[in-house]
Amino acid sequence: LKKIKISNTINIPIGGKPVDDIVVLKQGEFSGVKPSLIPFITPKLAVKVGDEVKIGSAMFFDKKDTDLLYLSPTCGVVEEIVYGDKRSLSSVIIKNNGKTDTEEKQSFSDISSIDVDTLRKAICQGGLWGIFKEFPFNNIPKTDSILPESIYVSLDNDEPFHPKSEVYLQDNLDDFSFGLDALKKLFTNVYMGVPLKSKSTQELLEDHITHKIKGHYPANQSDTLLYKNKTSSDDNNSFGIFGQDLIRLGYLLKNGKYPNTKIITLGGSILKKPTHLEVIDGESIANILKDEDIGDARVIAGGVFKGRTSCLKGYVGFNEYAIHILSEDLKQDLFGFMKPGFFKPTNSRTYMSFLNPFKNTNRDVSLYGEDRSCINCDFCYQVCPVDLQPQFIMKELYAKDVPNALSMGMLDCNSCGVCTYVCPSKIELSDIITTAKDDLYKELSK
Ligand code: SF4
Ligand code: SF4
Repeated sequence: LKKIKISNTINIPIGGKPVDDIVVLKQGEFSGVKPSLIPFITPKLAVKVGDEVKIGSAMFFDKKDTDLLYLSPTCGVVEEIVYGDKRSLSSVIIKNNGKTDTEEKQSFSDISSIDVDTLRKAICQGGLWGIFKEFPFNNIPKTDSILPESIYVSLDNDEPFHPKSEVYLQDNLDDFSFGLDALKKLFTNVYMGVPLKSKSTQELLEDHITHKIKGHYPANQSDTLLYKNKTSSDDNNSFGIFGQDLIRLGYLLKNGKYPNTKIITLGGSILKKPTHLEVIDGESIANILKDEDIGDARVIAGGVFKGRTSCLKGYVGFNEYAIHILSEDLKQDLFGFMKPGFFKPTNSRTYMSFLNPFKNTNRDVSLYGEDRSCINCDFCYQVCPVDLQPQFIMKELYAKDVPNALSMGMLDCNSCGVCTYVCPSKIELSDIITTAKDDLYKELSK
């Protein structure tokens, strides 16, 4: 067991932290499955409007890797298929019928007696291969890829706010252990980091934890741990997985049933009741927020740094565990630059609020400044958890010099978004680097 300290992390003063109770949400009228949120795949539908589906029925798969299946989290009738730009497949909407009819999958009583190929096939047919991500591009690994030696389990995601391990593990330890046995069968090294402050998780999983991690966001991301733990560039090809997905994996393999529920967080200071919620996967955001009055506030699904803007017509994605509500109340602040700014967020001591950053934690979507050129302040470097100099990588990418950007460690970027957050020139550093990595992945996969 190693203790590691990740410097250059950030404790974000943001309010509306979910309480540790879990509220079980009654399923809404509609659920949604969203192929558009799965990176790098070319989705092909396995259903059409009017089809009846059960929990675990095939909904779509990747045309280029037909064993990469995504299944229905609910039981009902396909109501609508929504297309986006250039007729790309966006969502499949299911009208729920309130039943729990479920397609049977393969189940196992003991993982130790199964071989790796059988296990891999059961995970694919059970619709869960998509819980794995492959570094350094964060793609879903090919279902027939050679498995790397190592996988990194992220028990807690410090991005505000994600389900806490001590909350989601509470009643699910058996499934988690079963899922962990499966991982140990597939990978030689299973690295598992736990925040130093999560004492109860440390007690629950003391035989399995490999790293205790000190640091704020994004210290507990699996790719941050990989960066600190790797000994050569070969280790970059490791896999990553989120802790709660081990519960889904264990449930599937033990029961032969698709795990259609998960714990998510509902956070944000304008909410009456920020909390952990147990929902059916693909739950509608309107149903999640039915007891809240959010007006025209922004709905962010998947985390305030790495998530996406959604809305009341949206649905929770397969790999999403958080809904955050941020105020859109953008008031003009006349001569704001002349004011001390006791309540404005600052990371660079521009405003007096640095003296007590947690005094006002009500956040909104304002940029608090305007776009301008890089002023070489170095703030982005000071917060980068993987020791990159984002400003120089960005400049190489603007000059279209990808080889130079690669030589500066671009592939180590974990898209945490903190550099963008602190940049006084409002440069979208994280997006620029992530887009370049995505383009490179697409080029290499041709
Ligand atoms: S934080 Fe922004 S302005 Fe400062 S060095 Fe980085 S990119 Fe340039
Ligand atoms: S360069 Fe990448 S890893 Fe570093 S702070 Fe920016 S987004 Fe995070």
